[in-house]
Amino acid sequence: MGMKIDLTGLSMGQIISHLGKGDLSSEELVSQLLDVMQEKEPVLDAFTMINTDSALQQARAADKARKDGCKGVLLGVPVAVKDNINVAGQPCGCSSRMLKGYVSPYDATVISRLRSAGAVFVGRTNMDEFAMGGSTENSSVKVTKNPHSRDRVPGGSSGGSAASVAGGSAIVALGSDTGGSIRQPASFCGCVGLKPTYGRVSRYGLVAFASSLDQIGPLTRDVTDSALMLEVMSGQDSLDSTSLNVEVPRFSAELKGNVKGVRIGLPREYFVPGMDKDVDTAIKSAVRKLSDMGAEIVDISLPHTEYAIATYYIIATAEASANLARFDGVRYGFRAPDAEDPMDMYCRTRAAGFGSEVKRRIILGTYVLSSGYYDAYYLTAQKVRTLIRKDFDDAFKRCDAIVTPVTPTTAFKFGERASDPLKMYLGDIFTVTANLAGNCAISVPCGMDSNGLPIGMQLFGPALGEQAILNVAFAFEKARG
Ligand code: GLN
Repeated sequence: MGMKIDLTGLSMGQIISHLGKGDLSSEELVSQLLDVMQEKEPVLDAFTMINTDSALQQARAADKARKDGCKGVLLGVPVAVKDNINVAGQPCGCSSRMLKGYVSPYDATVISRLRSAGAVFVGRTNMDEFAMGGSTENSSVKVTKNPHSRDRVPGGSSGGSAASVAGGSAIVALGSDTGGSIRQPASFCGCVGLKPTYGRVSRYGLVAFASSLDQIGPLTRDVTDSALMLEVMSGQDSLDSTSLNVEVPRFSAELKGNVKGVRIGLPREYFVPGMDKDVDTAIKSAVRKLSDMGAEIVDISLPHTEYAIATYYIIATAEASANLARFDGVRYGFRAPDAEDPMDMYCRTRAAGFGSEVKRRIILGTYVLSSGYYDAYYLTAQKVRTLIRKDFDDAFKRCDAIVTPVTPTTAFKFGERASDPLKMYLGDIFTVTANLAGNCAISVPCGMDSNGLPIGMQLFGPALGEQAILNVAFAFEKARG
């Protein structure tokens, strides 16, 4: 013990092996990481809170547990948590004024699973308010910067998680993905982001945005860490009735470093004019590489892709309008002062507590659900959703995984889309389909653009097909070096 290990660039797997060998204690690790977090925070603005005291206490407890023979897979490993996932005794603010002062009375199921495996919770990461957005500019707390360029967004809504993992102030982080919020920031910042199959991971304790789309997943420095995190996080939970009663594979032990004979689908609808030239080039060269490595490339079609954005923004806003009705000034966090009566209190609280994007979504969602418009919008969107799901079912008869870009562009500049919601929404074109269909997807770094900004490759798998996409991502990562 006592050896100073340079944490920069180490994966969680490497850190776990240092901890296991005993040449690094969790206390040393966490105290070193806390220093890095403090040092980087003025540059990245990735955290809404750093748990200085409690993290060190947890680390000491982990070291003691190790001495006592405890063998948790994540024993003593620091994890950063998106600000919409409840950790007992910590604030859970969703980067919203509405939840200011709210302290969580309980652990989300993913947190209790990670806790049982020995994880240490070091901080809470910044996000778009209530996970609505794609740049983290909608946070009411601070503006997170892209670690590759200070004048560019980290993506969103899990921008703080991606920026901290890619920027060195977190080793792994949790995010949530309703329409791309793990994969898109991972792509913009240059880390690995996994959205599990709907039902793979319990959402109990995740502040709900759109319940038929939300999933929790890891942001990590490499694919092995992603597999390891998923393994710990997954499993049925009686507290989330949508969680699936299926066996959890040993994803990390099963990782295969080759893609020989794997059929990889290329959907023509995802390679469209208007995409950044550098993104297009990077994805095509990644596909060539996979083919050189022995994968079989198959042309496929996902014909309803063009309706995905409209469908997503109807369903997601509809569900959000219902989910966010609970923030009324009575039960959680913020309450506007000087109200004349209860109705006035609700109105003032919601007017002052929510930011403008959240209000826009509540209004849109209320509209598409209102009688007279329900059939035209919400019901139609549900039907199109079924068609999108069927597109994937058909495609996966002909291939094992599907490769696409994560986003049409790399990280954009602050302010570039903030005043034009539609422009912001259109950036979600390649990610929302996986949420609508409920299948799994991963974003893995595949190159850089001419400005030195990361480009991510997306792999879609069928429902419960995480192992297949993790394998392809792992083989690709290895080959790329
Ligand atoms: N950018 C998408 C939206 O604004 C996705 C958000 C998410 O996945 N939480 O809704």
